[in-house]
Amino acid sequence: MRAMALVDAHCHFDLFPNPRQTLLEAERNRTYSIAVTNTPSVFKQTQRLTEGLKYVRPAIGLHPELALQRAGELPMFERLVPETRYVGEVGLDYRVVVKAADRSRQRAVFAAILRCCSHAGGRILTVHSRRAEADVVSALTEYRPGPFILHWYSGSLRTLADAVAAGGYFSINAAMVHSQRAERLIREIPPERVLSESDGPFVEFHGKPASPSTVRHVVARLADIWGIEASDAEHLVFQNFRRLLSGTSPSEARYL
Ligand code: MN
Repeated sequence: MRAMALVDAHCHFDLFPNPRQTLLEAERNRTYSIAVTNTPSVFKQTQRLTEGLKYVRPAIGLHPELALQRAGELPMFERLVPETRYVGEVGLDYRVVVKAADRSRQRAVFAAILRCCSHAGGRILTVHSRRAEADVVSALTEYRPGPFILHWYSGSLRTLADAVAAGGYFSINAAMVHSQRAERLIREIPPERVLSESDGPFVEFHGKPASPSTVRHVVARLADIWGIEASDAEHLVFQNFRRLLSGTSPSEARYL
């Protein structure tokens, strides 16, 4: 029997030493992947690298840790959004950005991104929310930019419930499945809203940067947490990804 397709909903392919090699790893392992980028100015490069690939899609992003320095790239973001259905990495980060005035500028950049997605329609977002989870979820609820995935969620149970109520998905990585606190959060997420991610090369797995193949391990751990077979967990995560895509565009869901 052929191995099941996997899902890596958040991977920084462009930040690996050899992006092409990492992309081919995802292709070889039949891993449907969202190739996030951190600034609009590097999107084209990832778009070129993923051209013709079956499993990897490029995303246009503006990382919250860069939002203040790179706010000038917002017009480029708006210009490039029509070129892809995927948006990320975007969001808020209050661990790195501490001053109230800076946080407010960061929220303004995020709001501009969400308005742009909402206007374009049919975009799928992968969103960062460290220490800013409640503000991220309330912005997503206010602007309704399209289906969204909270990547590496580490907020409260209450905000988690709000995100679930808003239709959100959650992508889980190897660092999360080995943290007791994160495991408690994972148990609170309805399984039909769970996706897997590597967040490579930022997450470490067995002392090495995580890569798309790490998601097989993540899903096996999810299976343990859920008390089901690994193959059933793979199937569930894949069905979740398919449902997420079909909500935006039947033609994009056919890519699966
Ligand atoms: Mn990331």
